[in-house]
Amino acid sequence: MTSTDSPDCLFCKIVAGDIPADVVASSDTAIAFRDIAPKAPVHVLVVPKEHYPDVSAFAATDTEGLAGVIGLADGVASELADGQYRLIFNTGPKAGQSVFHVHAHLLAGGELPGFA
Ligand code: C5P
Repeated sequence: MTSTDSPDCLFCKIVAGDIPADVVASSDTAIAFRDIAPKAPVHVLVVPKEHYPDVSAFAATDTEGLAGVIGLADGVASELADGQYRLIFNTGPKAGQSVFHVHAHLLAGGELPGFA
């Protein structure tokens, strides 16, 4: 399934340029844009251009694309912060996923709270 196969998907519309976003980096297969409700000094979403509902489907189908998303996030973290970062894939509603186009949350630029 490609981005254009999911016309109702918010992030497909951002990938297509139909909805504006603050894009900070892109590659052939992924784009990175600032989250509209940042939870850290640097809060960027990194999404593949192709549509997959979550990282489970993405990893099962396109490991190269997944590596591309992680690599783009790593580059953004070095460019916009000091290369120290947290990468989160919320997967499923119980884990807090609200947009069902796989995206990595890149959080960086400060002391991040611990989990426990
Ligand atoms: O992991 P989850 O699916 O909840 O993350 C979705 C994220 O997309 C939220 O952090 C939200 O702020 C962000 N978002 C955005 N731009 C939009 C709509 C949502 O950055 N237009």
